[in-house]
This record gives sequence, structure tokens and C-alpha cells, in this order.
Amino acid sequence: MIPLLILKGFLSVFLITGGCLAAEEPPPEPNVARLGTFPDWSVLDKFQRTMTGAEFAYLLNHCYARDRDEYEGLIEIQSDRALIVKQSNHVGAGYYTLWFKEAAHLPGEPETYWRDTYEMDDAPEASPRLLEGVKVAIDPGHIGGDWVRWDDRHFAIGMHTIEVREGEMTIRVARLLERDLGALGAIVQLTRYDNNPVTDLRPEGLYDEARAYLMRKRMIPSSKRIKDTTKKMFAISSEIRSRAETLNEAFQPDIALCLHFNASPWGSRPSFRASNHLHLLINGCYSKWEISEDDTRFEMVHRILQRIYYEELALAKDLAKTMAEETRLPPFDYGKGGSGKSVCESPYIWARNLLANRAFMCPVVFFEPYCMNHREVHARVQAGEYRGLREFDGVYKKNIYQEYADGVTSGLVRYFKNRR
Ligand SMILES: [Zn+2]
Repeated sequence: MIPLLILKGFLSVFLITGGCLAAEEPPPEPNVARLGTFPDWSVLDKFQRTMTGAEFAYLLNHCYARDRDEYEGLIEIQSDRALIVKQSNHVGAGYYTLWFKEAAHLPGEPETYWRDTYEMDDAPEASPRLLEGVKVAIDPGHIGGDWVRWDDRHFAIGMHTIEVREGEMTIRVARLLERDLGALGAIVQLTRYDNNPVTDLRPEGLYDEARAYLMRKRMIPSSKRIKDTTKKMFAISSEIRSRAETLNEAFQPDIALCLHFNASPWGSRPSFRASNHLHLLINGCYSKWEISEDDTRFEMVHRILQRIYYEELALAKDLAKTMAEETRLPPFDYGKGGSGKSVCESPYIWARNLLANRAFMCPVVFFEPYCMNHREVHARVQAGEYRGLREFDGVYKKNIYQEYADGVTSGLVRYFKNRR
């Protein structure tokens, strides 16, 4: 039987080429994400017959695909296998067949570099080192110093104020976590320790790549578009991919925590906004545009087969509770059909596909507390890392960095204490 999606693909090629399948034409450049590479599908071989069709379909529909239409023609679920198109713009490349596990037999779990809590040694008894041996990667979002001009996460409001720079604020929180989680026995590694980018690439050297990317995506490569794309390729794509390489190949953490601060949209220039909220992200909610990218589709399936979702969600649930208690912030709502998808009862947790939570191949929790252009948050950033408590609007508060770090630390303690 010819699989439906391949047949559909052949039919469209047949129609486009007027029935003449030109064999001599070279295949098109694969459709991959910015600075992505065409995946080696055989990496998935070790997951053959490790997941039932029901579980695969559940994870794909419940969390990973924004909705069912998004993977139509790219992934076809049959009773005993999934057919996954290898190259979305070239049917000739064929499809990857993923065989499902039959409910009756129980093969061994495929190996992943990260360990779930059941694979870890028990926490030492009667010891304060509740995170003993847990490998935690901390990713301070963005970059700092002079590099902030490449990243739009910095602004100043008012005269004589300190510029708010997300990439420098996240590193302050990361440093506190390195100390506090380390004291609890965790093995902590940061993806960066200073303001400089980890990647060796620079926007000036990415012109040709950016142009080729836009052409591949069928967008007119105007000079403004090329410039914007080189900026993103440098500050996001190349930077996160470099961080992912170190994590996945060298450190191989059990969990990764991506630290960010949020901001509310403003008009033509930075200004204060009334909203201030908190949310946490796990990986999911892929759109058709994203699933059509061969490397993105591969990474999504790779995450599904590792069953990262369960660990990620359970971890996010404990972290959302302690972050909400610590920050006293209300939840953010993406609304229906947006770039975020609700996957559980917690109003604080959303699934969203970002490069870091897709490329770090372990459970990843992404933090988005505080709107930096909220008046009180701005005042707390100006106040810096003071000791003890200070009053803001009649309430005594810790410095914003310690409050953030404490929310994370108590969530991890709660999670590992209950599960190891
Ligand atoms: Zn951010």
C-alpha cells in the first residue's frame, strides 16, 4: 500500500511538473530552521518499538502540535507505525518509518543522556543536600554588555536611570542559583558566565546565510530583511545552538532552566505598562511552519520519543507553585490559538516552541516572570541586589534577583524531595 502522504506528495509534484518527473534535476535545498542542518533520521532508530501508537498520538496532539492540521502531510499515524516525511520539499527523499511498540511486549527504555528521578540515587538521608548529584544546566537568557545592541532586550525609561538589560539580569539570577543549588549538592553549569556571546559567529559574517535562508523561505531578501535576519541568526540561532552543543555533548544535564524576564509591548518608545505577570514554558505547540522544517520536525519527534514531556511538566508544576508563592504574580494568558498552548490545569504553565527548549535535549523549563517595564519591577531593578528587605508600595520585598532565585530553588527542592 502506498502511504497516503507520499501519494499526495507525488501527486502534487506530478501536477506541478505537468506529469514529467525530471529525474536529472537536483533536489532542492532542504527547508530547515535558521542555521539548522538536515537531520540524520537514523538517530531515531534506537527508539523503534519503544512507544505505542496511542502514546505517540497523545503526546503529538495534546502537547507538541498546535493542533491536528499542523502536521497533516508531514506525519501520518497508522495502526502500527508513523510515517514521517524526511524532507518536506522533496518527496523523493522518502519517509522515516517509526514502528510502534505493541502494547503486549515491553522492550527496554531507550537511553537518554538525562536521568529521570527514578534513575537517580536516593537523596542522602538526614542531609540538607537535597539535590545531591543532580546535574542542572542554567541558561541565562540573552547576552549583555556591548552586545545588547544585537538583542532587543534592553531599554531605559526616564532620565538618570540605569538601563534595563535582560541579558545582565538573567546572569545575576544564574549566579545566585549556582551558589544556592550548589550548596544543596547539585552539579551546576551555566551556559555562559559573562556578557559575551558563546558563539564565534558574528552578524557581519552571516549575510550570505541570511540571504539563502530568506530565499529558501520564499521571502524577498530586501536589505532590511537580511539585516534583521543576520541579527537573529547571531543573537538567537547561532548563540542558542552553541549553548546547546555544549550542554548536549559535554555537560549532559538532567534538567535545564532557561532564565528570562518578560516585558509588555509598548508603542514607539519604551514606556511603563500596568501588567505584571508570571508564566513558565515547556516545549510544545509547534505550528505547521515549524513542523515543515525538517530539523525542527526531527527535534520534535526526538523529544516525543524520549518522553521528555512527563518530566518537564511535573517539574514545571512544582516550579510554578513556588514561583507564584515567591513573586505573588498573577498568571499570563496566551489566549486561544496563539503561540502558547495550555496543557494542564495550572494557569501558569504553557507549551511553546522556542529554540532553547527544543535544542537542549533534556527536560527544559523556561521562566518568564516580571514585566520589566512595570513601574515597580523597574524600581526594583534600579534598587539592585540589596541585602534584606526594602519597601515597595507598602510591601517589604527581597531584591528581585534573590526572590527569583528563591522561587526556583524551592521548586527544585520540592520536586526532588518528593520524588527521589
Ligand atoms: Zn528573554
